[in-house]
Amino acid sequence: LDPVEFRRQGHMMVDFIADYYQNIEKYPVLSQVEPGYLRKCLPESAPDNPEPIESILQDVQKHIVPGLTHWQSPSFFAYFASNVSIAGFLGEMLSTGFNVVGFSWVSSPAATELESIVMDWLGNLLTLPKSFLFSGNGGGVIHGSTCEAIICTMVAARDQMLRQIGLDNIQKLVVYGSDQTHSALQKACQIVGINPNNFRVIKTTKSTSFALSPESLKLAISSDVEAGLTPLFLCATVGTTATTAVDPLDSLCQVAKYYGIWVHVDAAYAGSACMCPEFRHFIDGVEGANSFSLNAHKWLFTALDCCCVWIKDPSTLTSSLSTNPEYLRNTATDSKQVVDYKDWQIALSRRFRAMKLWLVLKSYGAVNLRNYLRSHVKMAMLFEGLVSTDRRFEVVVPRVFSMVCFRVSPSAAIIISDDEINVENCINEVNRKLLEGINASGHAFMTHAVVGGMYVIRCAIGVTLTEEKHIAMAWKLVQEHADAILMKNNI
Ligand code: PLP
Repeated sequence: LDPVEFRRQGHMMVDFIADYYQNIEKYPVLSQVEPGYLRKCLPESAPDNPEPIESILQDVQKHIVPGLTHWQSPSFFAYFASNVSIAGFLGEMLSTGFNVVGFSWVSSPAATELESIVMDWLGNLLTLPKSFLFSGNGGGVIHGSTCEAIICTMVAARDQMLRQIGLDNIQKLVVYGSDQTHSALQKACQIVGINPNNFRVIKTTKSTSFALSPESLKLAISSDVEAGLTPLFLCATVGTTATTAVDPLDSLCQVAKYYGIWVHVDAAYAGSACMCPEFRHFIDGVEGANSFSLNAHKWLFTALDCCCVWIKDPSTLTSSLSTNPEYLRNTATDSKQVVDYKDWQIALSRRFRAMKLWLVLKSYGAVNLRNYLRSHVKMAMLFEGLVSTDRRFEVVVPRVFSMVCFRVSPSAAIIISDDEINVENCINEVNRKLLEGINASGHAFMTHAVVGGMYVIRCAIGVTLTEEKHIAMAWKLVQEHADAILMKNNI
């Protein structure tokens, strides 16, 4: 790695990326390419001889950029944002620059120690109970994704339980979530070896805004206990993917405690907001949980990937995930005075993710971070207000954070239907067409969810560059497409 050449090419790359951000609004937010487009553009085999960075960047611009869906576009309102910032980007650059592999303390002490420190810092900003922090005998680790976090915590719970009831009883273990829990839970069950018949998906309803009801949980658990099964793990969500519903942690944890169940709190999207005092109450009751995670790469301006996981009793995790091969032995590990993060996760090798989170926390400070989060919530309130003023639309569930779930209301949609029998299908079809039109325009990108049989459009705000003017433009776009659909049908 020649420093002179690195400097030259690096500057070009920074210029390329800065130009990308400067022009980002010129691109269609949702990529408009057809499947297989790239194979038609690129040669069949890798080049035999080196190509200069200049021509590589030309290829990127010509062939790759058109196939990108622009997640950092200010008009990206799909899924949940994966927002980034100058500090998050530069932190990623630094960690890639050092390219250390901090699997054990000795393999790069700063990587391990910085991770422990930033996890305590962020835990304190969230006012997590001390029992989740290193300073209170718990601890935090940065995983790549919530999927990994749930797998690892479920393995810890499984092994802890099997030590009590015997390995032969693995088929009796039961895992609980709701019909709104992210599919990460199902995947974890599949990997962890939970009997597929013992994965309970508890139904939620609109009356509880699609949050998991503690009474329903209790009923499910007691019937499993009666059937001779062993309740193991509950995944509660703060900010569900479909509607940002908040499961009531306090009461759920009380039920779980009674039955000795491990509770993991998945706050992948909404967790970051809880560093604002006005949103902290959404994780009230977390003290009753065993583990808690949020994705700083979703809503904390930290480039992908950065899933922050806190656990009250790290020894449960390390008992399940530790290995101690001779080639990794060292005196620091033998002293048991250090954290070896390889024993807190699936993979051995690991990126220095703490660097970017540290830069984000230092560069912006808690005050600015809170204000950025609030600005997204404020923009969501603005969008919610706009939806409410148009009688053809309805907000489907009350907005909680920075996402608005809305649809063309049944009264407006039904008028255009001559199919009186299948009214719900007709309403859904109108909304599906509306979303298709919005996304095909390239001017904004939103996604949908189906809750309680309703097809809803999700406008999820969280991109760093989004401003109020983009919200106003998005709403205008929605209205124009609604005009076209509803007018075409003689309304
Ligand atoms: N949990 C929730 C509530 C989510 O919204 C998501 C993704 O949007 C996930 C889990 C999955 O996160 P990851 O991709 O980090 O596994």
